[in-house]
Amino acid sequence: MRAFKAHLQGLTPYPYQKVEAPVKLDQNESPFDLPEPLKEEALRRMARLPWNRYPEIHAEGLRRKLAALTGWPEEGVVLAPGSNLLILALSLAAEEVLDLSPSFPHYAHAARMAGTPYRAVPLGEGFALPLEELLQAFRGGVLFLPNPHAPTGTLYPEEALRALAQRAQEVGGLLLVDEAYREFAGTDFSPLGRENPHVAFLRTFSKAFALGGVRAGYLLAAPEVAQVVREVLPPFVLPAHTGTILEVVLENPGYVAEVAAYVRKERERVYGRLLAHPTWRPYPSHTNFLLVRTPDAEVAFRHLLAQGILVRRQDRYPGLEGCLRVTIGLKEEMDAFLRAAFEVAYA
Ligand SMILES: *Cc1c(COP(=O)(O)O)cnc(C)c1O
Repeated sequence: MRAFKAHLQGLTPYPYQKVEAPVKLDQNESPFDLPEPLKEEALRRMARLPWNRYPEIHAEGLRRKLAALTGWPEEGVVLAPGSNLLILALSLAAEEVLDLSPSFPHYAHAARMAGTPYRAVPLGEGFALPLEELLQAFRGGVLFLPNPHAPTGTLYPEEALRALAQRAQEVGGLLLVDEAYREFAGTDFSPLGRENPHVAFLRTFSKAFALGGVRAGYLLAAPEVAQVVREVLPPFVLPAHTGTILEVVLENPGYVAEVAAYVRKERERVYGRLLAHPTWRPYPSHTNFLLVRTPDAEVAFRHLLAQGILVRRQDRYPGLEGCLRVTIGLKEEMDAFLRAAFEVAYA
C-alpha cells in the first residue's frame, strides 16, 4: 500500500477492547444517565430542528452560552464532538507534543497520527509531577497535562501549573490543561489562562455531564489559539443534534453537581474499604475512578470479570505494573466489586 504516509505504517490500535459484562466499570462514564426531563426536552427540541440544514459553522450559539457560563471570551471557545478531536487538532497543529508517561493515551496516539515530534517525561516517585524535568523539556510546542491526572487520579498543585504556565510563556509554547475530571476534584484552573495566552483548557461532557454517548467537548484558549484549532477541524463539525443536547444541559446544569457529589462520596467509601485489603492497594483519587495496584493484574482482571465486573487493565504502562482502573459506579455495583475484590485475596 503506497496511499498513506510512511509514519502511519505498523499502527497500534487505541488501547480499548469492548467486553460485555453486567457491571461496567471500565470507561469512567457517569453511572447515571441524563435526568429524564432533560432527555425529553432535548428530544422535543431535536424534533423541531430542520434536519436537512447544516448546523452553525462553529457552533456560535453554544460558544456564546459557554462564554457566559465560564466568563471566558467567546472567540476563545471551540466546541467539537469529543475533546479527543480537539486533542487531535492540537496535535496536528503542534510543532511538538510534550507528554507525561504514563498519561492519557490519546495524547501519544494523536501525536503519532499527526506525525508530530513527540517526547514524554516519566512521572516522579508516587506519581508526582516531574516539574523540574518538565520545565527543562518544555522548549515550545504543546504540553498536554491532565489535571487531575489520568490514569493515576493525582491532582497536581496549582503552584506547579503556575510554573509551567510561566515557562510556556517564556518559550512561546502552549500548556494545555485537560480538565476532564475537574468536577470530581472541584477544581478550575482556568484563571491561570486568563492573563496568559500560552495556557488553554480542555473540558468534556463525557464524564460528570453524563454524556459519554453524545460526544462533546470544548477548548478554552486565547483567541489566536482557538482560531488555529477551529481551522484545523472540518467546518460544521458539531452536529445539530449534539448541539441541541448541549443547549439543554447548559441551561439546566444542576444535575452535574449531584453526579459529582455522589461520585466523590462513593469513591472515598470504596477507597477506605480497599485500604483494608490484604494485597491490593488503592491510590488516592480526585477523579471518578480508582487506580488499584494488585499483585497480578491479569489474575485480578479475570477474577473480577468472572464475577461479572469489568474494569480496565493499566498494567502495560510504565510504573503501573499490576494496576487496574476501576470507575466509580452505582453503590450496588461497587459493593459487588468490593465483594469480588476481597474474595480474590483469599483465593
Ligand atoms: C475521558 C477523557 C477525555 C474525554 O474525551 P472525550 O473525547 O471528550 O470523550 C479527555 N481527556 C481525558 C484525560 C479523559 O480521561
